[in-house]
Amino acid sequence: MAHGDDDGLRLPPEVAPTQIVVVPIFQEDNQEEVMDYAKGVVEDLENSAVCGCGNCSCGSDLRIKLDDRTHRTPGYKFNEWELKGVPLRVEIGPNEVEHKAVTTVRRDNGEKEMGVDREEFINSAEKLLDSIQASMYDELEEYLQENIREADSKNDILSTIGKNRGYVKTRWCGKESCEGEIKDQVSAEIVVLPFQEDSKPATIQASDEKIGGECAVCGENAERWAYFAKNY
Ligand SMILES: [Zn+2]
Repeated sequence: MAHGDDDGLRLPPEVAPTQIVVVPIFQEDNQEEVMDYAKGVVEDLENSAVCGCGNCSCGSDLRIKLDDRTHRTPGYKFNEWELKGVPLRVEIGPNEVEHKAVTTVRRDNGEKEMGVDREEFINSAEKLLDSIQASMYDELEEYLQENIREADSKNDILSTIGKNRGYVKTRWCGKESCEGEIKDQVSAEIVVLPFQEDSKPATIQASDEKIGGECAVCGENAERWAYFAKNY
């Protein structure tokens, strides 16, 4: 729900198998120079030092892919990588080659930047991924905060899940049979189970101490908070 949109997956850079995809855009008559330039950008990205000292050879740990397939159109490639959720796309055509530039497109918000200086981009690519990571996290956190509704009875859980997207927070005894009762009726299940203070998402769980109160389903003593969400 949170890691996708109508165009497919949206992966945070930290978990994305490919973080940057470079797509060359060429015609027959400029294929070679565009491809060479694109390869150079990829190489420089791979060699950009991570420690920041500027002269070490540890190399970058960026996960980059050059899509050099010649039997696919750029448009086809864009769609395919969007679907797969690659966080950052770099487009390189004759224009970019001429101006020693690149065009970047963020997967998280679709933001496109044309004419980014080549060197500048290579030096700041990691920072750009970091900022994508941070903004996706913020977005998710905001989404969670806005989409958690509390329920304190079985009917309440069922009707809340039926009406809204997002999560229903409820007191839970910890028994699977109680989860099962909800699951059977609305195909929802417990998706987030914060046991400890530092478990994610931390912001929606105050602590792991006994919460008191009664399980919303069976009425026995509640052990912890549970978050139900509908399966799609
Ligand atoms: Zn129960």
